[in-house]
Amino acid sequence: MTAVVLDGKAVGAAILEKLCVRVSNGIIPRLAAVLVGNDEASQTYVAMKRQACEKIGGSVQLETLPQDATTQQVVSLVEKLNGDESIHGILVQLPLPKQVDAAAVLQKISLEKDVDGLHPIHLAAIFERKNGFVPATAKGIMALLDYYKIPLEGKNALVIGRSVEVGIPVAGLLLARNATVTIAHSKTKDLMPLCKNADVVVSAAGKIGIVTASMVKPGAAVIDVGTNFVEENGKRRVVGDVADDVADVAGFLSPVPGGVGPMTIACLLENLVEASSI
Ligand code: NAP
Repeated sequence: MTAVVLDGKAVGAAILEKLCVRVSNGIIPRLAAVLVGNDEASQTYVAMKRQACEKIGGSVQLETLPQDATTQQVVSLVEKLNGDESIHGILVQLPLPKQVDAAAVLQKISLEKDVDGLHPIHLAAIFERKNGFVPATAKGIMALLDYYKIPLEGKNALVIGRSVEVGIPVAGLLLARNATVTIAHSKTKDLMPLCKNADVVVSAAGKIGIVTASMVKPGAAVIDVGTNFVEENGKRRVVGDVADDVADVAGFLSPVPGGVGPMTIACLLENLVEASSI
């Protein structure tokens, strides 16, 4: 079997196209992107989000703080942005430096500007099946599954990873769609039988090769969220969590790059446009 490629680049581009039309009919959405420290990957992600936001006719206000910023400094910045009427959405790029209490920062973002959906009230809303901003990566994964009409109801879903940013919200969204959800984490004893039993696998561990062909049920949908960097011949390359040979067994597979990444950006901007028209 050769898996159908879940083309997040194309599906994400179609979402951005629709957003362009909505933006051209109304207010210019403005995103404040908070970048703390000098993490190279975070700088790249923020630059990509900025580029996409400008492409749909929105604008980005970049707010930077140094690597040694305190929790209070980040909280004060978020509070300032909460009160700034020209800002429709606030994105705090994660991970924050170790000394900053991320949970304390995220819970300060005002709900109507929380376009990354990471405020605890928005996370709880997923499990309560209430409306609210959904974290962009989780929203993007669901949009990709839906675009390819992958059935979820009554199916076994395995989510590998339990971060607040990805694993937990995607597990909640799958549950809300009546999948039977298992969440695996670093203390999970044996991934193999859990994976073998899953019709849908979402790997968000950030571990290269954590899912291999022998673990996957033939025909399963495998979503690779992992973004891992490897050096090859002096060049930096991004690879996912899922081994290449999974494409021979899975029915559907999202590639890295070109799968979940572009969907994340498109869904963040979808949330931003919604915030600007509230
Ligand atoms: P994270 O906060 O580091 O969480 C990783 C999760 O994986 C943790 O829950 C951890 O378990 C679990 N884990 C680690 N090793 C494991 C193992 N051997 N078996 C099972 N579970 C294991 O990372 P994250 O923010 O969720 O991101 C996950 C990956 O997705 C990263 O590669 C990240 O770069 C990528 N990502 C991609 C996008 C995108 O748009 N494409 C967006 C966000 C993140 P414990 O909880 O027990 O530690």
